Amino acid sequence: MKYFIIITLVLIAQTTKAQETDLEMVLSTVNKHDIQDHIYFLASDEMRGRALGTPEIDVAADYIATTLKEYGAQPLNGLSGYFQEVPFSNVSPASKVELSFNQTSADQIAVLEAANIDYSNTVLYLNYGSVEDFEGADVKGKLVVVKGGSEGASDLRSAFFVGRNKRQLAHTNGAVGLIEIINTDDQSWGFLRNFTSTDKISLVGPNDDQTFVHVWARQQDQELMELVQEQVTAELTIEGVQNTNFKGKNVVAMIPGSDPKLKDEFVIYSAHYDHVGVAKNAGGADSIYNGARDNAVGVVTVLSAAKNLGKYPTQRSALFILFTAEEKGLLGSEYYVSNPAVPLNRMVFCFNSDNGGYNDTSLATIIGLNRTTANKDIVKAVEASGLKAIDDPAPEQNLFDRSDNVHFAAAGIPAPTYGLGFTAFDAEIAKYYHQVTDNPDNLDYDYLLKFFRSYVLSARYIANNPQKPFWSEGDKYYEAGLLLYQGN
Ligand SMILES: [Zn+2]
Repeated sequence: MKYFIIITLVLIAQTTKAQETDLEMVLSTVNKHDIQDHIYFLASDEMRGRALGTPEIDVAADYIATTLKEYGAQPLNGLSGYFQEVPFSNVSPASKVELSFNQTSADQIAVLEAANIDYSNTVLYLNYGSVEDFEGADVKGKLVVVKGGSEGASDLRSAFFVGRNKRQLAHTNGAVGLIEIINTDDQSWGFLRNFTSTDKISLVGPNDDQTFVHVWARQQDQELMELVQEQVTAELTIEGVQNTNFKGKNVVAMIPGSDPKLKDEFVIYSAHYDHVGVAKNAGGADSIYNGARDNAVGVVTVLSAAKNLGKYPTQRSALFILFTAEEKGLLGSEYYVSNPAVPLNRMVFCFNSDNGGYNDTSLATIIGLNRTTANKDIVKAVEASGLKAIDDPAPEQNLFDRSDNVHFAAAGIPAPTYGLGFTAFDAEIAKYYHQVTDNPDNLDYDYLLKFFRSYVLSARYIANNPQKPFWSEGDKYYEAGLLLYQGN
């Protein structure tokens, strides 16, 4: 009898060992020591706020790559080791801008796309600059003049939005530049002037023409509008613009799945690792935006998943991407989605993490939780780790479309953003969000332990679920998803 019990116990112990649960796997790899190490390194003063274009952000990228390698993640074919180089340009504002029509000068000008130019010739007026307006117009080598916005929507916001299409139309038709006449109030104009008077960082495409100019001239009276509708000549001088091209890096790695079939499908684990750098005119003692919450925490969700999956691979493959230049307008993720290392239709889910702060340590807030069918797996995993999962508490802020996940979502890939627990944009969030106070030493690491375990367990459930995740019915990106995966 005695021996029987011992043998039974040994057998039970062995079967339990062989069937280690996902939760046990997560508990065994996600620990406070690692979390603190990573966050204190990435958000240290030495990293100087990890701003794009600085030597410090490259140190952060090296650190992330080395850690991924140590955890058993592999580099992908076609990239430079663990790095995807991302080409940027930095365009400085002009030192001199002058514009006149038939010798009448337009003195309120904002330059949206700057390049040095000295133009003196006739201009072509094309109404609102719609596709129809451009049809049959010979704009080659010319400046095109249009009204801002569109019929019935000429406010600054609408004008800004449709202005991009006009710019592209003018450019592809061979114009040298676009001038829009804008009618707007002082406050909006002031805001725009501020926006356009700093360095502008953007991605550089292989066929980008960095000589094209896009200018807004403010219409103060009807005269200017009447004038440009006649046959006019314009003189436009822009001087002192300096255009510098440079490279940034996305960090990319993968861990193959364990299932012979499901391994062809990937789950993406992503976060941006850049932040906003150092305050320019800081008078105070601390001028470094350390970005512990935003977004060292996000990076550590991804690293925690990599460590766990390196030891216990899931059935689906894992792709880890740490983006650069999120703070410059989601540019690193935009570049990745245009230049993916593995075809996008093999990505079944993107589990992004981005963070501003938290005001409730009983929660994980997932922006877009219920917008995909992975919600059940996430809710279950978060609960098993001692927290509660909630969806976007502030939909009016449109957070879903304001982080790197949106580029994946727009391509059709179900892509929520996992974040620290918050219930509203209140004073507690504002205390740290994009402030020099966002430091590693004012984080609650007991909470973070549960937070990271929740993420990694969610990852395991999603990547092992035989059911492929998809958009919830009726979602804004549902159709894009159908389109992406058709024929799979
Ligand atoms: Zn940020």
